[in-house]
Amino acid sequence: MARTASSAGLAKDSDSVRQERVYRTEAIVLREMDYAEADRILTLLTPGGKLSALGRGIRRPTSRRVGHLGLFYRVQLMLARGRNLDTITQAECLEAYEGLRGDLLRFTHACYAGELVERFAQEGEENQPLYDLMAQALRWLAEEHDLPLWTRYLELRVLSVSGYQPDLFHCVNCHRDIQPEVNYLHAAQGGLLCARCGPGQPQARAVSLNAQKVLRYLQTHDTADVRALKVGNATHSEVESLLRGYLEYTLERELKSVAFLQRLRREMTST
Ligand SMILES: [Zn+2]
Repeated sequence: MARTASSAGLAKDSDSVRQERVYRTEAIVLREMDYAEADRILTLLTPGGKLSALGRGIRRPTSRRVGHLGLFYRVQLMLARGRNLDTITQAECLEAYEGLRGDLLRFTHACYAGELVERFAQEGEENQPLYDLMAQALRWLAEEHDLPLWTRYLELRVLSVSGYQPDLFHCVNCHRDIQPEVNYLHAAQGGLLCARCGPGQPQARAVSLNAQKVLRYLQTHDTADVRALKVGNATHSEVESLLRGYLEYTLERELKSVAFLQRLRREMTST
């Protein structure tokens, strides 16, 4: 840019540098941590990835600039780039998800959703579908009735938009169609193993027919259909436990691959 600067263009140039220091983004507040006397460090989910930012004076009741910032708010932000942390200079609340406030059960489910999405989100890695999903999930958890079911739905959606959707229709080993019988979920292989391939695999977990139906239904239906679904306690517990195992395995692999990439990057820049 400096190369094109003429004497007349100098002022314009410093203007554009100033503009680049400041940027706008939509964000959802995933986590907040008190900092210094009246500041707070926020973990934000944006369509452009995860971001930590400083809200100066945010804990002062009179803070007008950033008074519209709170946990699980969807906000429009102005930020100034900083050496370590970007600073929030303006905030406007777009959606407060009122149903979450003052309802411990709903709020607790939102906390879990926030933790889950935070673990799948990467810094500086664009993921608009993950952002849209979190915005929707907070709406579900603020308004819908069967919170555990909507949480399972969220878990499957998070896996899908992160590129880890389990294959529930074909055996991940022999590729035959999955038949309506007990089959086996295998996280490392990314889906179900059929009744021939599954038995004897130490990491494979048997899945009842009912649990398979619920998993498939949640994976392939939209919100109106989820609202109509009723799942018995035993089946729900099975689905919950299967998904927990699947998520834990996937997150561990994700963490390892991120650590591997970081190490690779360090080694490449140090040579
Ligand atoms: Zn098979």
